[in-house]
Amino acid sequence: MPTECIQAIVTGYTDYRDNDRILTLFSAERGRIDCKARNCRKPTAPLLACAQPFVFGEFEIFFNSDRATVNGCEIRESFYPLREDVDRFMTASAATQLCNSVIERESADAQLFSLLYHILSFLAYTEYNPKDLLIAFLLHYLDHAGYRPSLTRCAICRRDIRQDAALYYSAEAGGVICAACPHGGRQVSKLALEAMRRMLLLSHDELTRVVLQEPLQKELYAILRNSAAKMLGESDKAVSLLDQIA
Ligand SMILES: [Zn+2]
Repeated sequence: MPTECIQAIVTGYTDYRDNDRILTLFSAERGRIDCKARNCRKPTAPLLACAQPFVFGEFEIFFNSDRATVNGCEIRESFYPLREDVDRFMTASAATQLCNSVIERESADAQLFSLLYHILSFLAYTEYNPKDLLIAFLLHYLDHAGYRPSLTRCAICRRDIRQDAALYYSAEAGGVICAACPHGGRQVSKLALEAMRRMLLLSHDELTRVVLQEPLQKELYAILRNSAAKMLGESDKAVSLLDQIA
């Protein structure tokens, strides 16, 4: 029987017919799995509780040629408080959608899975500011995807910029730009650069250490939103969610 038990997080879903749903699951070992959850929208359905966004569980999945169907699920973590707070729900939706935009079938990604798991836990079960958590998530997400911004050297001429007075930032160029290079006029503060340098040193379980004052929070959010748009495209669903949150 091609049935497997797979630990995964529900990162999205599409409703179809009256009571069914196609779940997008993110598994650390298997990457993206799109699978049917039949009758899961009936109030008495055994799959009702697990066919919800953000649920982390042990899914029993039946694979048949290119199709996958959920037979059952043992929920490990529902992250239920995310459904009771609009800001936290939106932030968690942006994080799961950012993952959906990059995960692929049969492609293990334990690092990204760990990042998502930690951010959902912090959003659901701590009082830390969701915007700060999203900023920390975004920076680690970009770094993981190979879009780590250049923070101590000009992204164009590669000169060390740590003693420079005026600095600029370009998502297109991939980081900080010195005044001598074509920079497009978007200035960046030294504080923002230092904050990103420090954030990248944190492990996933330390991300709650990111506590930002509002002007810095705004500056970093704009920088990271533009970097995500550069990587995924302006029309990506995750980028739209980032704009709604802003
Ligand atoms: Zn330069």
